[in-house]
Amino acid sequence: MSKDYYELLGVSKDASDDEIKKAFRKAAHKHHPDKESGDEAKFKEINEAYQVLSDKQKRGQYDQFGSSFDQAGAGGGQSHGGFDFSGFQGGGQNGFNFEFGGDGGGFGDIFGDIFGGGRGQGQNQNQGKGNDVSVDVEITLEEAVVETEKDINIFISSLCFVCDGIGAEKGSKVESCKTCGGSGQVTKQRRTILGTFAQNEICPDCQGVGETFNKKCSACGGDGKTKQNKTIKVKIPVGIADGQTIRLSGQGEVGFRPGKGNSIAGDLYITVRVKQHSLFERKGDDIIYNLQISISQAALGDKINIPTLQGEVKLKIPSGIQSGKIIKLKEKGITHLQGLGKGDMFVVVQIAIPEKLSKNQKKLFEELKKEGI
Ligand SMILES: [Zn+2]
Ligand SMILES: [Zn+2]
Repeated sequence: MSKDYYELLGVSKDASDDEIKKAFRKAAHKHHPDKESGDEAKFKEINEAYQVLSDKQKRGQYDQFGSSFDQAGAGGGQSHGGFDFSGFQGGGQNGFNFEFGGDGGGFGDIFGDIFGGGRGQGQNQNQGKGNDVSVDVEITLEEAVVETEKDINIFISSLCFVCDGIGAEKGSKVESCKTCGGSGQVTKQRRTILGTFAQNEICPDCQGVGETFNKKCSACGGDGKTKQNKTIKVKIPVGIADGQTIRLSGQGEVGFRPGKGNSIAGDLYITVRVKQHSLFERKGDDIIYNLQISISQAALGDKINIPTLQGEVKLKIPSGIQSGKIIKLKEKGITHLQGLGKGDMFVVVQIAIPEKLSKNQKKLFEELKKEGI
């Protein structure tokens, strides 16, 4: 597993970015597989070395963790590198992206320390990455139209709070892993119908690091993680619809990287359920509201207060309005998720015919009847 990226490029450990770039170009030129002098394996190694050393963060990690860092830069292990709270997995219909912006609402504080380790193991890039977690959160229609923050309670594998994910008891010493003799790999015999094969696998005890602790953390048994209750705040984007999903990168279960406590966490997928409203029906970003008015209001016209998602507004009912007529209230609907603008509200007018009449009402209707109404 151990490769010296500096040596591969032929530069010193304190080489500048420029020197690294130049050295890479030179080496890549020399070993390019299309050339006669080319060497594909070497070319790949050089590329791998450059990918790590040309990236400030990866180079820092490599310097710190040395050879056990190895594949992390080259493979999928770091593909979700760091922390975008951006991910918005569209509910399907639109395929849009929603940006949470930089103000992750303090998420960074909670999980910032478990990112970026990426001590990947070549053979299995996903080993050590925590599981993704899916949860539902229920909101009201009112909450869907304004900036809303919700607490999500989950019970998931998190960094052990006793050892901070390191897996070691206080005062324990680092020692070369006994299982693999410090190589980080074990050889397994596989029997198949074609014969027996020896296959190198990542050491299950040290996860490829080559080192373990002589005393394992008593809280987590050396796993570096325990199941914990977590409350995560999530900002619900304005205009979100039922069934749409928000992805919080790195808020899922932690993975396991013993030794240094570095871990790649899975993602948290939050599916938003918008409750049915007692008054309003949602159609996309528009709102439908059924309004019952009396016969006299319809005939004479009126000014009444009606509810909207933004509070009560005055509605003018023109005289002579017919049942089924729709009055449009511009931009009284839901803010578009994708950007500026709002949907509208449609007031569907229904004229209520009284089922029972008082004596006096009956008399008045008799009068109207005589008038041909
Ligand atoms: Zn622990
Ligand atoms: Zn080992």
